[in-house]
Amino acid sequence: MKIGILEGNGIGPEIVAATKKVLEACDLGFEWVHVPIAQEAVELYGTEVPEQSLDLLRELKVAIKGPMSVEKMKGRILLTRKDGTSHIYPSNNNAIRQELNCFACPRPARGIPGISGRYENMDVVIIREISEGIYSAIEHRIQGDLASEAVKLITRAGAERICRWAFEYAIQNHRRKVTCSHKANAISLTDGLFLETFRRVAKDYPEIESEDLMVDATAYYLVKDPKRFDVIVTMNQYGDILSDLCAGLIGSLGLGAGANIGQECAIFEACHGSAPDIAGRGIANPTSLILSAVMLLRHIGRPDMADKVEQAVRAVLTEGRTITRDLGGTATTEEFTGAIIDKLRLS
Ligand code: NAD
Repeated sequence: MKIGILEGNGIGPEIVAATKKVLEACDLGFEWVHVPIAQEAVELYGTEVPEQSLDLLRELKVAIKGPMSVEKMKGRILLTRKDGTSHIYPSNNNAIRQELNCFACPRPARGIPGISGRYENMDVVIIREISEGIYSAIEHRIQGDLASEAVKLITRAGAERICRWAFEYAIQNHRRKVTCSHKANAISLTDGLFLETFRRVAKDYPEIESEDLMVDATAYYLVKDPKRFDVIVTMNQYGDILSDLCAGLIGSLGLGAGANIGQECAIFEACHGSAPDIAGRGIANPTSLILSAVMLLRHIGRPDMADKVEQAVRAVLTEGRTITRDLGGTATTEEFTGAIIDKLRLS
């Protein structure tokens, strides 16, 4: 099977290489197809997110993506399509998700014995909507530089699509409860529409418990009492922030897995960024992307192999002998990856 590879930058190429090695050890005959994006794509095609790469991803349907840096206060990607239409996106990460109609971003945070301390038993999945919200690049200045405003776009169709997806996810993954996280008291029309839609969709899933909670209270309870949560469905920015919080609670951003799922394509990527502060030193924790690859294995219908890889990763982490610096160890990315592969071969 062919899998698209978007290397990203910063620690991207390091954690992508580690993830490929683990997947190769599964002996499933994966064939890697390099997909150029960002600087490399500019050199080849003159643009950061070229149609050629998007078409390739549509054809492959499944890809692994390393994180990509986004310049602060500049991030506006003008993407021109084959039909001559164009669109502005806040970043190339966002452009890829939007052009491929990815809308659901599941980000599991499962505590690890020996690593996660009082969050050892945490088991929460954030389902972040990624096609609308405040990251829609609808922004402008008012009267020169006196003020600026951004539009938070929530559509009934977009809210319904993600809420339904969250309940379906809960059923398929034997989860008991879906919490909608919002701020409908302060942003009553946009977050209100999301909440109203959630409550309506919830009625179609009586077997799944449902509740809603303000996003600030969600953050509080995630820290104080994470056991009250199971699946959390939320808008783009809240999901972005809450998923980093969850990764931090279980021990490190280097543990935060994720995926961008849509009808056309599924791209598996960690929830963190390119970590420029540790890039090129061989010390990044690749768990986040390896566990994203576990999600890929489930997505392509290999839950058996997904379970094996996940168990190998968790066993190496729990044993604590070969863990990376973000978790208090001294192992390099390569040593840690090697320990997972050894464990996998024994299973
Ligand atoms: P970051 O997530 O890259 O890093 C935050 C902290 O976590 C840093 O100290 C970093 O060293 C650590 N960290 C992250 N991943 C780690 C890993 N796998 N192992 C060990 N430590 C890890 O956040 P940032 O520094 O704010 O962002 C860096 C760049 O990444 C920015 O340009 C940002 O725009 C971009 N970004 C990209 C994506 C994406 O590609 N999807 C997502 C978020 C941020």
